[in-house]
Amino acid sequence: MEIVGQPLRLPIFVWQAVRLPYKRSVMPGSVAIIGAGVSGLTCGVVFAENGYGTVIFAKEVAQQTTSGAAAAVWFPYDAEPLEKVIPWALRTFDLLADLSRVPGTGVSMIELRQFSRNKEIQIPDWAISLGAEPLIPSSTSVIPSARRAVGQRRRKVENGAAREAATRTGRPEAERTGSERIKSLESFSSGFSLRVPLMDTTIYLDYLANRFSGAGGSITRNVHFNKLEEVDRKFDLVINCAGIGARDLVQDVNLEPHRGQVAIVPRIENLYCAIVCDDAPLMYAIPRTNDCVFGGTNDLSSALAADPATTNQILAECSRVLRIDKPNVLAERVGLRPFRKSGVRLERDQLPDGRIVIHNYGHGGAGFTLSWGSAREVVDLATL
Ligand SMILES: Cc1cc2nc3c(=O)[nH]c(=O)nc-3n(C[C@H](O)[C@H](O)[C@H](O)COP(=O)(O)OP(=O)(O)OC[C@H]3O[C@@H](n4cnc5c(N)ncnc54)[C@H](O)[C@@H]3O)c2cc1C
Repeated sequence: MEIVGQPLRLPIFVWQAVRLPYKRSVMPGSVAIIGAGVSGLTCGVVFAENGYGTVIFAKEVAQQTTSGAAAAVWFPYDAEPLEKVIPWALRTFDLLADLSRVPGTGVSMIELRQFSRNKEIQIPDWAISLGAEPLIPSSTSVIPSARRAVGQRRRKVENGAAREAATRTGRPEAERTGSERIKSLESFSSGFSLRVPLMDTTIYLDYLANRFSGAGGSITRNVHFNKLEEVDRKFDLVINCAGIGARDLVQDVNLEPHRGQVAIVPRIENLYCAIVCDDAPLMYAIPRTNDCVFGGTNDLSSALAADPATTNQILAECSRVLRIDKPNVLAERVGLRPFRKSGVRLERDQLPDGRIVIHNYGHGGAGFTLSWGSAREVVDLATL
């Protein structure tokens, strides 16, 4: 194990814990978590707040990780298997909806509009259960239809007043707001909308790190393990949240890098909803507190450098869809989604030295979406 630098103890700032009570049948003395992306930090919060002495070890922390490059809107995408992913995602949805009511977390609720350019979108059952509504295209407008009779169960979780004005028709294009322009896109053939949590990664990852620190945890950065057994023997329990790094750490050939590149641009005037289209070319525009994330790509590649030509393509497609001039680029980010062909690895195992390890990696394009549901299951596995 190589350690460069000192343990990181971040200052506590205003946070209010949304605590998760657990019954501890087995109480490990201390827990080592490998990884300080969203998976490791969320597990850290859950363990530390339940009284475990917890240290996170990581090569990179928070903003420097794949998690720091994410869009990061709640949506089950590019992660398997669905029968496990959806329950983890729905559990996470509730926790994030709670956090959206706590100031300073970086979590808010946003209307997500999911479009297709060329096919009829089928609204998934899980989205119906969250109150999704179809967006019906016509020659001049794409507007929310009458609310579906089914699927109102979760809408009550968080469905505050939409920030945009109600759809108005009959005005010239130039007078319409950004959100209204989105509704009148001829480039899409169908779509649906639902309200989901949005994590502003520039705030949320620090919130998690500070909440972990406030619960007594500590983070040691610039640590690279070649194998899990290198974790100091004083830790009884090891949690593997290494993301794509698990490929080398535990020789997992099932893990593949689904490379994503995004461009961070200034806020787009009047754009209050997230626009996503999964058909090629993948396109999304996600407004955040201080900026907007334009995406994106999803290719099998480990290249970490941003490609300027790709940034140009992203800007061109987002600007075309939003009907705006190309904005300035504030930053380019690249991350490797840890997609695991055989499905997210969330399981209990044993190290050669007898210690318990719980693997929690391979969340693909949905690490934020699955974070709290996965972390709760990790603790459940730890206390078997
Ligand atoms: C462009 C893009 C957009 C995305 N959008 C969304 C979205 O909208 N919603 C969503 O839910 N998800 C999204 N994702 C996916 C999400 O970012 C990932 O699923 C998530 O970041 C994975 O988090 P993680 O903590 O498991 O891994 P990471 O964030 O990669 O963290 C891994 C950690 O492990 C450490 N580590 C690795 N190997 C070692 C080692 N050997 N020794 C020590 N430390 C090690 C790393 O330094 C790091 O701290 C997006 C991803 C990208 C790239």
